[in-house]
Amino acid sequence: MEVLVGKTSAEIETLVAGTLGVPAFRGRQVAQGLYKRFQRDFDKLTDLPKDVRSRLIETFALAPCRVTKTDSAPDGTTKYLLALPDDEVVEAVFLPYDGRTSVCVSSQVGCPMTCSFCATGTEGLARNLTAGEIVDQVLCLQELHPDRRISHVVLMGMGEPLLNYPAVIGAIRLLSEEVGISLRHITLSTVGVVPNIRKLADENMPITLAVSLHAPNDTLRSELVPLNDKYPIAVLMDACREYVQKTRRRITFEYVLMAGVNDTEKEAHELGALLRREPLVSVNTIPYNSTDVASRYRRPTPESARAFREIVASYGVTITQRQEKGHKIAAACGQLKRSALKPGSAMRPLPMFAHLVAPTPTAPVLDAQPAV
Ligand code: SF4
Repeated sequence: MEVLVGKTSAEIETLVAGTLGVPAFRGRQVAQGLYKRFQRDFDKLTDLPKDVRSRLIETFALAPCRVTKTDSAPDGTTKYLLALPDDEVVEAVFLPYDGRTSVCVSSQVGCPMTCSFCATGTEGLARNLTAGEIVDQVLCLQELHPDRRISHVVLMGMGEPLLNYPAVIGAIRLLSEEVGISLRHITLSTVGVVPNIRKLADENMPITLAVSLHAPNDTLRSELVPLNDKYPIAVLMDACREYVQKTRRRITFEYVLMAGVNDTEKEAHELGALLRREPLVSVNTIPYNSTDVASRYRRPTPESARAFREIVASYGVTITQRQEKGHKIAAACGQLKRSALKPGSAMRPLPMFAHLVAPTPTAPVLDAQPAV
């Protein structure tokens, strides 16, 4: 059955009118209900006659995602496990802040990147999501939280967005043009798929690019992010430079601090030296949270995290520690899915979600808001 989410309003209008033989404005009503009022069920489109709704139900599927599990933190952060029509599941997180509301969405079912500290990375890739499945994560969470208008979207859930390029770009355009989310409020996070960073630079889309760096030298980075073997740091930095030159947009480098692994003085000096002459870049650090996936990694103390930031900042590099939200739940990619697959297992957070959604800093900041 053909799914309507993921098509433009014009496409929905033409498809509905052409298939059902109804006037074009009926299709327009469907698109508006879906993208403007977040009505993800034909029965909720009560401005349509009942017989048209019945024929729509027989002919099309409106939205593909359905919630199968949730987990909420006291700060309002809520993580959702969403089932897709083929029963694959992905995660999405609702993140309310003072003055804005973010959601973090997945771009793939699983991920082929095998980053050593990531729950999703242990699963491998099942399949890419469609543009509609990416957009519907946002619509679904908006429907569930009608009191908060989603203003920011972060593509940092399960999957590597730049490995599902056409669907991700299609989803970003739909979120901007149909749902009304500003491109400047959309962040795409990558571990460094260099050819597609270059391609993205030519899309003329003023989104925010976040690059998961996690290490300042190739030996360590290849251990944490195996893709580094293919695109070493020098190659990645060339692509990032080109991206900044073409787009004049700031790049954020994500750096998950793991005690004794990448948070020593040596790595801090290396990171400072690596980025000191790069224009329009900043670093976000996030202390690692232990998981049952990679128990060899440990969270640093607040003092060592602060010392790391001070050294990097001494090179003139803008560096922050992101506010952590949903600390008490499995608010990180792959964790809720793993906990659902392993009944009774503790839901412990990975550091992937929630730290990419604070505003991009404009000056060096050493003290972040306290972790939740
Ligand atoms: S950190 Fe991101 S890119 Fe790496 S395995 Fe996890 S989901 Fe994939």
